[in-house]
Amino acid sequence: SIVVTGATGHLGKHVVEGLLEKVPADQVTAVVRDEAKAADLAARGVRIAVADYDAPETLDGVFSAGDKVLLISSSAVGKDRVAQHKAVLDAARAAGVALLAYTSAPGSLTAALADDHRATEAAVLESGVPYTLLRNGWYNENYTENLAPVLEHGAVVQAAGEGRISTASRADYAAAAVAVLTGEGHENATYELGGDTAFDFTEYAAAVSRASGKEIVYNAVPAETYKGILTGAGVPEPFAAILAGVDESIAKGELLITSGDLSRLAGRPTTPITESIEAALKG
Ligand code: NDP
Repeated sequence: SIVVTGATGHLGKHVVEGLLEKVPADQVTAVVRDEAKAADLAARGVRIAVADYDAPETLDGVFSAGDKVLLISSSAVGKDRVAQHKAVLDAARAAGVALLAYTSAPGSLTAALADDHRATEAAVLESGVPYTLLRNGWYNENYTENLAPVLEHGAVVQAAGEGRISTASRADYAAAAVAVLTGEGHENATYELGGDTAFDFTEYAAAVSRASGKEIVYNAVPAETYKGILTGAGVPEPFAAILAGVDESIAKGELLITSGDLSRLAGRPTTPITESIEAALKG
């Protein structure tokens, strides 16, 4: 079976849809923590396994020998994500899976957000399980799902200086994961995944201007200021610090991915940010 964790999340949904285009539904297992969210998948014949990363015993019996597994990294930033990921890894290893693919972060990323990913990668390598590291770059949607304040204030506020970033849509990263899960020869490979084209936030603001018909500027602020703006808008301090750290990494070019791995794996060009902006504005 092909087993996908986080299957009811944003990325997981795209992955399951992509798999269903390539393999029969009964060969796909969706690991979910809330069965009700997977009712539509169950109705389409996808096998559902209910498990919670925080309760390792619920992962017993989820995996079988020969399975290809996609571990979608946990969204519980601030919790012990490494322990969560290790619980999945332990269950997968005990079952004798054929492959464990993990959605990681770019190797170039030094921001604190990457620490959990580096620690998980180390555990994966140590486990001896055949692996694929899908080092996902940033999503277009990280920006295009947050256009309301940009349009309201006429400004893109980031602490990324003039740094360039190569983002791609979640659907693009999902297509790469589907290629790995349904293809051959990806054992013990590490892919640096990002968009084919890069932009800085001046260009991003200009693109939002063009698409919306509103005057939008880029207001580049220091990381501390950005953190204060985020906490002022209700973002919890630890998460604001993480986001500010990511922007400092963007300023240094750490989220500029030039490998071409993503479009090569997906078999098509990545989705330009302009396309995601237009889709978001259409709502
Ligand atoms: P989502 O938050 O939509 O999905 C996270 C998934 O993890 C959900 O399916 C969620 O379950 C599941 N999950 C969380 N906690 C547990 C748990 N304790 N046990 C079992 N499942 C759990 O994120 P995306 O799909 O957009 O992104 C996937 C991952 O990529 C994120 O979790 C994060 O690690 C990372 N990420 C990457 C970004 C990037 O730009 N590259 C940006 C943001 C996140 P449920 O459906 O029940 O909520």
